[in-house]
Order: sequence, then C-alpha cells, then structure tokens
Amino acid sequence: MATNRDYYEILGVSRNASDEEIKKAYRKLALKYHPDRNPGDKEAEERFKEAAEAYEVLRDPQKRQLYDQFGHEGLRGSGFQGFRGFEDIFSSFGDIFQEFFSFNFGTSQRSRTNARPGNDLLYELEISFEEAIFGTEKDLDINTYRQCERCGGSGSEPGSSESMCPLCRGRGQVVQSQGFFRIATTCTRCHGAGRVITTPCRDCGGQGRLRRLKTVHVKVPPGVDSGTRLRLRGEGESGYRGGVAGDLYVRLKVRPHEIFERDGNDLYAKISVSFVQAILGDEVLLNTLDGEKVIKIEPGTQPGTVLKFHGEGVPSLRGYGRGDLFVQIDVTIPSKITPRQKELLMEFQAIEEEKAEKRGRKWPWSKRHQDKDRVVGETAR
Ligand SMILES: [Zn+2]
Ligand SMILES: [Zn+2]
Repeated sequence: MATNRDYYEILGVSRNASDEEIKKAYRKLALKYHPDRNPGDKEAEERFKEAAEAYEVLRDPQKRQLYDQFGHEGLRGSGFQGFRGFEDIFSSFGDIFQEFFSFNFGTSQRSRTNARPGNDLLYELEISFEEAIFGTEKDLDINTYRQCERCGGSGSEPGSSESMCPLCRGRGQVVQSQGFFRIATTCTRCHGAGRVITTPCRDCGGQGRLRRLKTVHVKVPPGVDSGTRLRLRGEGESGYRGGVAGDLYVRLKVRPHEIFERDGNDLYAKISVSFVQAILGDEVLLNTLDGEKVIKIEPGTQPGTVLKFHGEGVPSLRGYGRGDLFVQIDVTIPSKITPRQKELLMEFQAIEEEKAEKRGRKWPWSKRHQDKDRVVGETAR
C-alpha cells in the first residue's frame, strides 16, 4: 500500500457513498491526474496512484468492508498490495479510461477488455490536375464503424458494469487436463477478457461501435500525383469494444489536363502556331497554371522547337522549389488556301528560288523545277 490517507477522503466521497458515486469520483480524479495529461508531474502521479488504490478498495464490497471495520490495517491481512505502477492501474481499470479517453494504453487494455482494433480503410479520391499541383482540401463522406457515443465504445449500457466471466472465473483462460498435460486455451465466452458485459449498450448491442456516415476532412498537400497515398491516423474503422481505430488511406487519382502532361515535377505543353507565325515570329498566349503567359515565338522558329521555362512546373511535395515547364512549338500547315494566297506563295517561292540560284544552288528536291526547265527547252525548240 502506498498511502496512509483515508480512501474516502482521497476520493472526496462520504463513508456511505454508493458504488456509482465512488466510480464517478474516481473517474474525475483519474482524468485530472492522468499521466498523459500531466507528463513528468510527480505530484499528479502520486494523486493518480492514490486515487487508483482508493478506488480498487472501495469498489470491492469485501475490501471495503474490511477497510470500514479495520482501516488500512484490515487490508494488510487480505493480501491487498496496492499497485506497482501505471501499467498495473491501466490493466485493472482500462475500461474506465476508455470511456473518457480516445487514446489507448497499449496491449494491456486489449487483453483485459476484449477490444479489437478496427480495420484500415482505403478511399480512392479523384482530384483535378490543378488540385494535385497546388493542393486542396476535401470532405469525404465515409460510411464505416464509428465509436458508439452512448457507451463510449465499451459496449456496456451506461450505468451497468461488466461482471466476471462465469466460464473462466475472470482468468480469461480455461485450463484442461489431458493426461500429464495441462492445456490453457483462451476462454470462448469472454475471448480472454475475463469479464463479460451484463447489459449490452442499447445503441450498439455491445459492439462499442456503429456503422455511420462520417465526414472526414482531408488536406491534400501541393505536388501530389496519381497513386500518392495519404494516411489519416485513426480515421479508419473504429475498434471493436473500444479497440484502437484503424487508419484511413486516401489514394489519389489525378484527372488528365487538356493542355498539360506531367512527368514528376515537370510540365509539358504543346502549342500550335501557323507557319507564317513561325517564320515571322509572334507572341502567343498560353493558359498556364499560374495564369496567362506570353510565349515569344522567335522569327524562324522550327517545328518541334522546345522552350524551357525554369521553375514554372509543379511545386515539389517536399516544400521547396518547382519543376520546369516545357513548351513544344508545333507548326501547322494550311491544307486549303485561296487563289490569292496561292499567288502570294508562288511569288514567295520564286524569290526563294532566286535567292538559292544566287548562292549557286538549285532546288534539287523540286520536280516542278525540272518540269519547268523541260517546258522551257521544248518551247525553244
Ligand atoms: Zn454502445
Ligand atoms: Zn471467460
């Protein structure tokens, strides 16, 4: 025993307090002095242990009677030792915390309360190209098991308590003798918990969880891509009877963009200009992710020319820098022209040929040129 203080005084209840009053008083103190709320606080630690000891005695009718009659002295003979540490306290009263805390206390509570962890869930989320690049926030409606509010996940109707499992007498195991061997198996009635629910919760029927539609808010960071998985801790399926909740994984699928293609953090776009624009040069507008951008086409731009814009690609998922933007210039050739356009182009061609001849070059690739020579020759004859 760690304390010599009066147990009723510790819990702040009268000597004829009911079981429910004692439980309530203990919960209050346990919450107040919980080690997770008071990290490193020795005073809180002492209060927490003291309260647990007081509760352990006063919740048990036999121990309470001994204490009422003989005080601390009376318990010494009963084999009551108090608690060794937090682990001890949690494994004894895990369920009381579970009703109030969403965090779990490791493996001890699982084996004592029959709790089972919830499954992880996978959700496919389709987002636009821009959302993938600049990040977005979404609300997902997820239909899954959520902790029952009525019983706080314990599965017991509020006000009722669990009782010792009648099959294994609270041990969680059933021991059978087979010849020389004694074989211990997990109790089939309480599944190792040692205790059974006496009155199942009216809402969840003892499961501690219910299927519900819940809205989960997801922050998609900038720079994600198709196949990126986001993990939302504890947003998966709630555990069975207060077990740890699973995680929610959100797998992203990015819709293709009408202009851009993406390779890592680099963006690729193609723009088409007319052959005249390619020859004369021009300024054309491209709708980039950062808004309208003027792309300068130099005079004499060749088809397939690629322009690189440094740092105008996708922001890095790691938070610094951006990829590059590559713009490929396509040159379109008109398939139909007017007689006037043809006339102009013929004139254009004549000048080109003249220029070539001046430089001592013919148009070896033009059959028309040969034909022209032949026609001229024939006429001369
Ligand atoms: Zn319930
Ligand atoms: Zn059992």
